[in-house]
Amino acid sequence: MDRTFLMIKPDGVQRGLVGEIIARFEKKGLKMVAGKFETLPEDRVMEHYAEHTEKPFFAGLKAYITSGPCFLMVWEGKNIVAITRQMIGATNPAEAAPGTIRGDCAMEIGMNVIHGSDSDETAAREIAIHFAPEELISYKRIDETFLYE
Ligand code: UDP
Repeated sequence: MDRTFLMIKPDGVQRGLVGEIIARFEKKGLKMVAGKFETLPEDRVMEHYAEHTEKPFFAGLKAYITSGPCFLMVWEGKNIVAITRQMIGATNPAEAAPGTIRGDCAMEIGMNVIHGSDSDETAAREIAIHFAPEELISYKRIDETFLYE
């Protein structure tokens, strides 16, 4: 099954949005297979955001993402990367469509509540950065019979 890495950022945790966000993905039919609270250490931030370290916004991004605990997750589902990117919405919450997490729950790009991998390759890379293989739990959800044709 396809997998993705999702992370509720410190603003999402501090604003009490963890339950609301998990509920949206659960309701869709996606399956959480790993989850943990963690304040990200600097080395993993550098690795996770390797493509952004030279960008002008990176100092602010690093300060924000390490400012408190994140809720890190691995989720499974058919075509999950595309589905979760759609549900998360545009990077800038001001441009994110209503009904998306960022469109409904955030105001500005620097605090956009959640991260989601943008391709299958990125998902595999990000899962490996943040989770050991034994942290991923394999189980069958009872509703799978009525989710997939
Ligand atoms: N970001 C920012 N300012 C910018 C662009 C990005 O603070 O001008 C932050 C923002 O938190 C974003 C993250 O950097 O979520 C990664 O940017 P990316 O373009 O990969 O967006 P995403 O995949 O998170 O939608």
